Amino acid sequence: MARTIARGLQGDGVPVVTGCGVDGIVSAPARIGLRHRGGETRARFAVFCAGIGSDRLAEAAGASADPRVVPFRGAYRYLRRERRSLVRSLIYPVPDPSLPFLGVHLSRHIDGEVSLGPTALLAPRRARDLTWPGTWRVARRWWRTGVSELRHAVSQRSLAAAAAAYVPELRADDLDGGFAGVRAQAVGRDGKLIDDFVVSETERALHVRNAPSPAATSAFALAGLIAERAEGAAP
Ligand SMILES: Cc1cc2nc3c(=O)[nH]c(=O)nc-3n(C[C@H](O)[C@H](O)[C@H](O)COP(=O)(O)OP(=O)(O)OC[C@H]3O[C@@H](n4cnc5c(N)ncnc54)[C@H](O)[C@@H]3O)c2cc1C
Repeated sequence: MARTIARGLQGDGVPVVTGCGVDGIVSAPARIGLRHRGGETRARFAVFCAGIGSDRLAEAAGASADPRVVPFRGAYRYLRRERRSLVRSLIYPVPDPSLPFLGVHLSRHIDGEVSLGPTALLAPRRARDLTWPGTWRVARRWWRTGVSELRHAVSQRSLAAAAAAYVPELRADDLDGGFAGVRAQAVGRDGKLIDDFVVSETERALHVRNAPSPAATSAFALAGLIAERAEGAAP
């Protein structure tokens, strides 16, 4: 999707610069400058959608340091081909409204593959994540949940047992291979896990700091809202 959009933009003469992370923001008269390995890109207004890097860029542009983005590692496993017939649709637990996580669910994909997961493991990567008071407050508040997530992450048996609540025939040796991703989770200074979109404004930019699931599924609807807000905010 992203490649197709980029091709369309380039066809309209819009420059597309990739493969060079923004590592600095400079304010120039009537312009915002984005510094990166390839030089500097200047614009009248910028919209930052940098996922895990979004808090750093927002702060660099002068926005509040709260909330901070803290990484959570989420791993999914696949069911062995011979066992895929156990799952014929999407199976989700009733969510715990106090947590912005879906819980272990089973998804049948369009190619017949069945995935199971995710785990949700607090995975601070930088000193910056550890110095944020919210990270420690999350750990203190949710340590019980954290322990069971850790069990799911290290033990195939434990993850399978969680999914067996919905598919009783499921066994640990039904799992085979998988993939993992890192979820950029906004955490307030008070340790609150934020489960809604967080968009902040600075003079010449809009910062999307938290775009949790289903931000991918609803990307176009969300893009419409962001574009509308950017048009309203641009000087
Ligand atoms: C395992 C997993 C499963 C998920 N499943 C679903 C699902 O089924 N449905 C759904 O709707 N959502 C799902 N999500 C959530 C979804 O991926 C996110 O909500 C969505 O990707 C957020 O979009 P974003 O554009 O804000 O951030 P991202 O998709 O993270 O994109 C941010 C981009 O900015 C780049 N970047 C970071 N820092 C910089 C920098 N300094 N300079 C330049 N670029 C930078 C990153 O490399 C990245 O490409 C899932 C997430 C995970 C982790």
